[in-house]
Amino acid sequence: MAVLAEPIKGVLELRNFINGEWVESKGAVEDVINPATQKVIARVPISTKDEIGDAVAAAQAAFPDWRRTPPLARVRCLFRMKELMEQNFEELSRIQTMEHGKTIDESRGETRRGIENVEVATGIPTLMMGYNLEDIAAGIDEYLIRQPLGVFGIIGPYNFPFMVPLWFIPYAIATGNTIVVKPSSEDPISQFKIAELAEEAGVPAGVYNVVNGGRTVVNGMLDHPDIKGVCFVGSTPVARDVIYKRSGETGKRCIAQAGAKNYTLVMPDADIPGTMAACLTSFFGNAGQRCLAGANLVPVGEGLSDSEYNAFYNKIVRAFVEAASNIRVGYGLDERTQMGPVRDAKKKQGILGYIEKGIQEGATMRLDGRQPKIMGDWPGDAFLGATVFEDVTPDMTIAKEEIFGPVASILRCKTFDQAVDMIHASPFGNTAVIFTQSGKWAREFQYRVVAGNIGINVAIAAPMAFFPFSGMKDSFFGTLHGQGLETIRFFTESKVVVQRWF
Ligand code: NAD
Repeated sequence: MAVLAEPIKGVLELRNFINGEWVESKGAVEDVINPATQKVIARVPISTKDEIGDAVAAAQAAFPDWRRTPPLARVRCLFRMKELMEQNFEELSRIQTMEHGKTIDESRGETRRGIENVEVATGIPTLMMGYNLEDIAAGIDEYLIRQPLGVFGIIGPYNFPFMVPLWFIPYAIATGNTIVVKPSSEDPISQFKIAELAEEAGVPAGVYNVVNGGRTVVNGMLDHPDIKGVCFVGSTPVARDVIYKRSGETGKRCIAQAGAKNYTLVMPDADIPGTMAACLTSFFGNAGQRCLAGANLVPVGEGLSDSEYNAFYNKIVRAFVEAASNIRVGYGLDERTQMGPVRDAKKKQGILGYIEKGIQEGATMRLDGRQPKIMGDWPGDAFLGATVFEDVTPDMTIAKEEIFGPVASILRCKTFDQAVDMIHASPFGNTAVIFTQSGKWAREFQYRVVAGNIGINVAIAAPMAFFPFSGMKDSFFGTLHGQGLETIRFFTESKVVVQRWF
């Protein structure tokens, strides 16, 4: 089967989108490289502090009119954006594969999830409603209204270049706020395309701005007195030490969704073939670059004798290794591909470093993905195959740190209680998953485990757009989460009015 047509021909020169104009940046320029072909597909500006200032000024100037625009008129722009996204669905998906590396099916899933957030935000005319109560005292009524606050900054990670900023963008503008988006400079093309569609959909000048770049832009947002809040998704050190800390210092609202190291427990009564099929996509989908990716797989020996546990553990290891060894690695635009490259050669080197650590610290390598067989004649710079270690212990680096690549660790654990303790020893709390047919263990798991997204017989517990994308401990900093009602709360202030009627 041939590789699907690439929607990006040549090299795109990306610009910033400020006050309804596509403007050239005065900053330096970086290449965006397709990780599978190693070809330059775009050049992205690394914008200056002045340019973020220009965007905030435009957003601030657009705010008074936009907040007075009736909610129904605001969401009409979103309905048009949704229609344009549907019309361009395949092109948007292929762009994600070209700029990030994921398979085309993974990109199509990402496009769908992004659009779903636009769809949910079109419900703002009802979702943003306040409430009231009459006669709180004789002749006095009281009611609550929700109002937009002004300009918000939205900062995206590289692993979901299309979807993650859409956890915030449609809700921010539907509630009457104005925004400045800073895409990941590693794969900024999807956000460039979404801004083009927003322009075509008639979002007024200044309401929706995009400024490309890196930490200068982020710092510019955090320092700017007219930015009321920031939404960030990325790694834990930046979320905690930069975004959350500085937002606190400058009095901004903040959602900072951060890194992860996720556990998947398999109880003895689990359906093994179904569990293995689900784990394969969780551990190796998106080449392991998902905050919800399975990382540590734990067959739990609750109720089993030692010999029964060994048999159960070995069965899981065999089944998992066999399934992982058959994953087809290649360019994501080849529809046969089951795992694309990681984002770039530097990230690949980082993952190889973790694999070395695993070997040095005494884990047993059962599947070595360092020299993958690649389908097609693509340069190997960013490709890795699935790697599986067994006999991993919780103190090993590969069990503790976020690798963000296709590397699985299998750990031994005799009881459910010990497995829960193991999960809680990790500083992260993004997701935790259990495979079991027992209602008792499922209930105990969801009740006790400290993690934002719980999967029960579901390996990737990704919340739909009308639920919050949760996270706890070092996986989240802030109060309210991205997506759905919580995001609407984040983007609005409650005002209470008490009125006496004469
Ligand atoms: P990252 O922290 O390196 O970058 C995220 C954003 O912050 C980018 O836009 C980047 O330009 C900017 N940035 C980077 N360093 C900065 C600094 N020192 N100061 C200011 N801004 C800075 O994260 P990434 O590598 O792009 O994304 C992967 C991470 O995101 C992983 O840890 C993953 O688990 C996490 N993630 C979390 C969720 C979630 O919902 N919890 C979802 C997706 C990804």
